[in-house]
Amino acid sequence: MTGHVYLVGAGPGDPGLMSVRALQLIAQADTILYDRLIPASALDDARPDAELLFVGKQGGGESVPQEDTEELMVARAREGRTVVRLKGGDPFVFGRGGEEALALRSAGIPYEIVPGVTAGVAAAAYAGIPVTHRGLSSAVALVTGHEDPGKDDTALDWPALAAFPGTLVFYMGVRALPHIAESLIAAGRPAEEPVAIVERGTLPGQRTVTGSLATIAEAARAQDVRAPSITVVGPVARLAGELSWLPPAPLAGLVVAVTRARTQASELARRLASLGARVVQAPVIHTVPLPGPAPDLAPYDLICLTSPVGVAALFERLHAGGTDARALAGARVAAIGPGTAEALSARGIVADIVPARAVAEGLVEALAGVTPPVRRALIARAREGRDVLPDALRAQGVEVDVLALYETIAETPPAHILREALAADYITFTSASTVRFFLQAIDTAGLSPHTRIVSIGPITSGALREHGLEPHVEASTHDIDGLIQALIADVAAAAAGSVGEC
Ligand code: SAH
Repeated sequence: MTGHVYLVGAGPGDPGLMSVRALQLIAQADTILYDRLIPASALDDARPDAELLFVGKQGGGESVPQEDTEELMVARAREGRTVVRLKGGDPFVFGRGGEEALALRSAGIPYEIVPGVTAGVAAAAYAGIPVTHRGLSSAVALVTGHEDPGKDDTALDWPALAAFPGTLVFYMGVRALPHIAESLIAAGRPAEEPVAIVERGTLPGQRTVTGSLATIAEAARAQDVRAPSITVVGPVARLAGELSWLPPAPLAGLVVAVTRARTQASELARRLASLGARVVQAPVIHTVPLPGPAPDLAPYDLICLTSPVGVAALFERLHAGGTDARALAGARVAAIGPGTAEALSARGIVADIVPARAVAEGLVEALAGVTPPVRRALIARAREGRDVLPDALRAQGVEVDVLALYETIAETPPAHILREALAADYITFTSASTVRFFLQAIDTAGLSPHTRIVSIGPITSGALREHGLEPHVEASTHDIDGLIQALIADVAAAAAGSVGEC
């Protein structure tokens, strides 16, 4: 039995703009062939056993040849599989969906087209630009800006476009922008005609750059506009000023440096970027698991985990020893910090104790009242951890063993990354060891005077002060959420302060 192919539009990037039909089909598919410009969460509800094949362009480089994609699609359908071919925006708007449908037709494979919200209309709307507007524009043309001036057969008819009685929306036109603007003016479109470029429309970090046909190329260059962007040419572009409605990203325009280990930084970096920051990843540490046998956990009635890395290292040891989460069955499990609790939960363990304050002191407080009282505890953690927790538990009469699961070692980021971190608007420290290793890697005098130092909590702040650095911002809850909230509050306070000074 031949399978079915669905050519599905995933919309412009905001997951909320995917259609119900698209989500249903993704959840059912045996095979999904997807492009780069699809929403980040588009595949979240794919079946765990679905075959997910990326057929887009690798980071602006070579893409999978179109014929290969078409062949793959046909081959999978012939195997009887349900295939979703998932594309950004609408599959029939500069998506080569028409070619793929032709290939399916000639192979005799049944297909369905699921339209999507196209970027040219959606990104404009998210910037407050109606592509048609009574009295301003009664027609809209979707135009590819990706023209190769060397190839006659792809050349656009500039006089016809210039004479078009309505809005022009260019896709794929970032690099060709100077050529587009010049060609339209040369063909008779007024040089003062309003133009708006919408970069990353509907996505975190959306940005609008405005100007006229005469000025837009320079504005885009000066503001480093990048793909994906659409360019709207016409009087409606002016409405962006009046109708823009998206609240500005709280960290827009700010450079934020992240010093924690790369394996742990991705969540923080992603969240900062989604709030509009440009993130400089300057990891100054990385963690290395220490070799050792699977620990015997049977004697303990409390097991404390202090970091997600510790959780991963403990489970690696357990697995290597031929056991699994059941080794923790007899004990209560305590986790410092929500990240640690999440890492446990991903391995089937719901922590019994997660202190409100994500520091060792918080856990000591949380353990003070537990019943039945703890008699023997294992603290599984980094080799260089502090002694607060073991000391405090021992003082309560608990027999304590400390198991060093990993160590934190220095990593020196490349010089240009360190320079960027030193010039950042904010530099974030998430542990005392990131402070120590960062200061080893740099000369403190190199820190720019305007760079504000963000600390995740008192221990990290203490390490900063030991080195003569006063944190400008300290999180009041000692986790990633708390750190981000404190950073946003600082930005807001600075903005309010500067307004007050005016
Ligand atoms: N089929 C897609 C277009 C694919 S061509 C659609 O209907 O939207 C790729 C071009 O689409 C990009 O170069 C850019 O011009 C535009 N584009 C896609 N996503 C975008 C976004 N989130 N913001 C702005 N432009 C986008």
